[in-house]
Formats: sequence, structure tokens, C-alpha cells
Amino acid sequence: MYIGGIEAGGTKMICAVADESLAIVEQTAIPTTTPADTLAAIFDFFAPYPLAAVGVGSFGPIGIDPQQSTYGHILATPKAGWQQFDVVGTLKAQWPDTELIWTTDVNAAAYGELRLGAAQGKDSCVYMTVGTGIGAGVVRDGALFQGIGHPEIGHTFVKRHPDDTYAGTCPYHHDCLEGLAAGPSLEGRTGIKGQDLPDTHAIWDLQAYYIGQALVNITLTLAPEKLILGGGVMNQPHLLAKIQAAFVEQMAGYMDTPPVEDYISAWALPNQSGITGCLLLAQERMSEK
Ligand code: ADP
Ligand code: ZN
Repeated sequence: MYIGGIEAGGTKMICAVADESLAIVEQTAIPTTTPADTLAAIFDFFAPYPLAAVGVGSFGPIGIDPQQSTYGHILATPKAGWQQFDVVGTLKAQWPDTELIWTTDVNAAAYGELRLGAAQGKDSCVYMTVGTGIGAGVVRDGALFQGIGHPEIGHTFVKRHPDDTYAGTCPYHHDCLEGLAAGPSLEGRTGIKGQDLPDTHAIWDLQAYYIGQALVNITLTLAPEKLILGGGVMNQPHLLAKIQAAFVEQMAGYMDTPPVEDYISAWALPNQSGITGCLLLAQERMSEK
């Protein structure tokens, strides 16, 4: 038997098959189009492999409470065709004998980083992606943190920088963390895509101010053992040090944390944290059986 992982993103679905020891047998990326076409391509990819368990880490928001009728569904996404789509129900219909584990993409990534990445040996961590959006996954006592819903830290509010007048990009809140600091805000503020901005540009200090502040808020709320940053915007090598400095400045000595260079780090599994977490969740479920 094999295990499967699906990191379901708004742009692409990363699918992987592994053996029981987690060695990857085959991996692919399927473009996210309509639910019907995308799921058909996913089922084609996995068809040769009998699957004992599949871990799914999905873009959100998603229904996560097994007591609710929305469990397993994608909820209020702007992604056309996917609103209220029943992902788990569709997978279950195709794979009735396969164990399914369902969580967010960032929860899966946090789990991958905890077990095999930057937070190895710890019991808790928060993983934050700064990409097209901002999202964060939380692991506590070695397990995914989720209740009636899942954390939506990307949409929490941050204190505006006094010099910042940008309206923000979030369709719901305008100037929440995601609205002020996700990748599209870089282009919205400067007219230049993040990847094309020089590292001397003043925007990086503003970017660090917001991400650093968000990490202060997370630390004050959850006190995790480790904070991990990933996502497209973190491909700027100079940004991590600026964020660490902004964190120290805004924490203002209030709470003791480990040395900031240890406490806040870049993902150790670049672009693989999510799919690794999905496979780990599947492997664990399989070994419980
Ligand atoms: P997604 O969030 O859709 O999974 P990514 O994590 O790759 O995708 O994030 C894409 C965002 O990151 C875009 O807004 C893009 O402009 C920005 N981005 C990609 N590369 C860089 C870079 N080197 N520096 C700054 N921003 C970047
Ligand atoms: Zn928002």
C-alpha cells in the first residue's frame, strides 16, 4: 500500500505518492482549474497506486469541524467554482477505503516543518506563508491546532505604520495583515512585482514592520517554541534579518524569547513543507490502523 499527499493550492495542486517509509515514489503539480477537471487529473495521477491514507492540506477557508455540514468543503474563496465545493466528499466517493486527513495548507506546512524541518524536536511552532496571501498554521503539543475553524492569522489586524496610507488589498478587511503585507501589496504600493524590487527599496522596511508585528502578536497570543516563515516573498534573502530586527524592536523587551536568529527562521523545506506535512499526516494515520 501507498500513502498520498495533496497540497491543494489556488494555483496548483501538488500531489505526491510515497511508500510507508515516506520515500516519494512520484510527485506532480496539477493546475487548479475547475473542480471537475482538477479532481479528474488528481485521480488519474493516483490511479496506479492503492492508497491506505491521503493527507490533504487545502487553501481556505475550509470547513474543519466534523460536526458541521461544511466539513471537508472549501468555504468563502474568491476562486471561481470552488465556493462550497465538497473536497472530502468527492475524494471519499472515489476512494471509499482510504483514510483521509483534512486540514489547511499552512497547518500541513507547520506540521512538516515541526517533524522534519526548522522546528524539529519541538512540540509547537507557527508557520507563516507570505505569498499571494498570508496564512499561518499552528502546531501545539505536536498536533494541528484547530477547533470550530482553523487559525486565520493572515486576516488579523496590525497597527498601521504612521507613514503608510496604502488602502490594502483584502476584499474583506482592506487593511488587515494580508491586505497590507502579502505579495500583491508590494506591487500595489510600488507598481513593481516583489521579485523585481531591488533589495535597497524602502518598502522592505515597511514589509518587515508588518511581518515583525504579526510575529509579535503570535508570540504574545500563543508563545510557540518556534516561528517559521516561507512563501514567495521570503525569497528575498535580506528580508529575514529585517523582520527579526522589527520583531525585537516591537516586542520592546516585554517577553523573553529565544535569541531571535533561532526563534524566527526561514522554512527548512522550501516549497516542500506543505506536501511533506500532508504525507506525514497520512503516514501517521496509516500506522495507527
Ligand atoms: P502562492 O502564495 O500563490 O502559493 P507564492 O508563495 O509563490 O505563491 O507567492 C507569490 C507571491 O510572492 C507573488 O505576489 C509574488 O509577486 C511574490 N514573490 C515571488 N517571488 C518573490 C521574490 N523573489 N521577492 C518578493 N516577492 C516575491
Ligand atoms: Zn483580510
